[in-house]
Amino acid sequence: MKRRDLFAGSLALGALAARSAWTSIPAAAQALNRTAPAGSVPHLTPMRVHADQIADIKVCLRPFRPMGPRLDVEKIGDKTVIHNYGHGGSGWSLSWGSADIAVGKAAATLDKKIAVIGCGVIGLTSALTAQRAGMDVTIYTKDLLPHTRSVRANGSWTPDSRVALTKPAGDAFPALWEQMARYSWKTYRDYLGLPGNPIDFRDNYILSDIPFDQKHFPPPQPGAGDYSTTGKPQHTSEFADYGDLIRDIIPNPEEIDPRDNPFPVAHARRANMMMFNFGAYGHLLLSEFYQAGGKIVIREFHNPGDLKSLPENVIINCPGYAAHDWWQDKTLIPVRGQTTWLPPQADALYGVEYKGAALLSKTDGVMVQALDFSHTLGEMVGVGNSFEHADRSEAEQAIGIFEDLFARMGKEHV
Ligand SMILES: Cc1cc2nc3c(=O)[nH]c(=O)nc-3n(C[C@H](O)[C@H](O)[C@H](O)COP(=O)(O)OP(=O)(O)OC[C@H]3O[C@@H](n4cnc5c(N)ncnc54)[C@H](O)[C@@H]3O)c2cc1C
Repeated sequence: MKRRDLFAGSLALGALAARSAWTSIPAAAQALNRTAPAGSVPHLTPMRVHADQIADIKVCLRPFRPMGPRLDVEKIGDKTVIHNYGHGGSGWSLSWGSADIAVGKAAATLDKKIAVIGCGVIGLTSALTAQRAGMDVTIYTKDLLPHTRSVRANGSWTPDSRVALTKPAGDAFPALWEQMARYSWKTYRDYLGLPGNPIDFRDNYILSDIPFDQKHFPPPQPGAGDYSTTGKPQHTSEFADYGDLIRDIIPNPEEIDPRDNPFPVAHARRANMMMFNFGAYGHLLLSEFYQAGGKIVIREFHNPGDLKSLPENVIINCPGYAAHDWWQDKTLIPVRGQTTWLPPQADALYGVEYKGAALLSKTDGVMVQALDFSHTLGEMVGVGNSFEHADRSEAEQAIGIFEDLFARMGKEHV
């Protein structure tokens, strides 16, 4: 359930432990013998994807910690600080479960007045979860959700995308991850079917010109080392895969029979994928927070000593990647990612992955993202890169892949 696995429509099987995500995808589908029912692929309207349609390019740094998100409790003077940051490429997906753990620790103090630092998806879900537990919550933040890194993401269910490295995360983390993922999944289901579709599902198609089982990542370079020897992951195989732990609740992928394949490529799969419409969902979360009596104070903190001036004694700290400087947490590794946005296309609500790029049609726009054009890096793309500025050529390259695909698709369907 890395982005790659997700777009592949794969819920990782045990074979994913070997980290050959591409190769495990057919293994998953074949083992289940799942072929989409004949005739169940609807007519798909080709999308209008061209560089002159670009409405926005957003860049974001995934807050990646090799040992997984930080959820421990720290004392700063008489303040109790509960950390809740470092969710890598999985923050949207794990938010509610992570909030539940952090708020449980806050509740143990028996203090009802809580401060939350940060108003990204982690801060906002922490604040709402605390309110639902009967607490009086004030959010202190530099930016509100629409201006945070959170809304520069893709916004799909990807709960183990760059969330940890297998070895540094250790033996206890998988169970904690499972707890967060199951809790989040269940909570998100409560937001389905609401006006504006804050949370929705999309048919997501992964396409390939060659059989999926012929796709492999090159093995690690001899002598390249790994996280334990270099302080940075060196190969995609070091990243953790936990998808198998929740396989019983996530819709499985289907093979598409060539006779039903609407795309001009030889191989196709389809997955039913949960996704988040940032505009509707973000607006709903902020409204819920205010309606429950929540307060927001715009404020920037510069070092932990600043917390002493807060009236609250219990603080849930949700600054995302900013903890690298604000809390001097140098275990955070930036993982750069970029999403490009085209106008919404309500007549074509589906997703596609092809040639190392992803496209997802959402209510707030068509999102295009470069994943791994080289097909050699996997989870290593963007690791250690903190360049938070738009790269137009990357955006145009990803758009070109889909422009070409839809042009061919249109011709073959005339
Ligand atoms: C390209 C890309 C695609 C992604 N796609 C997905 C996806 O499909 N699914 C998924 O689950 N995850 C995805 N992610 C990951 C997800 O976006 C992050 O894990 C998540 O947004 C982290 O949220 P956060 O609330 O911790 O941090 P942020 O969104 O960065 O929020 C931090 C908050 O803290 C505040 N703050 C920071 N420092 C201070 C300070 N010093 N003083 C006061 N306030 C402060 C900020 O103003 C902000 O309000 C993606 C990430 C990227 C980069």
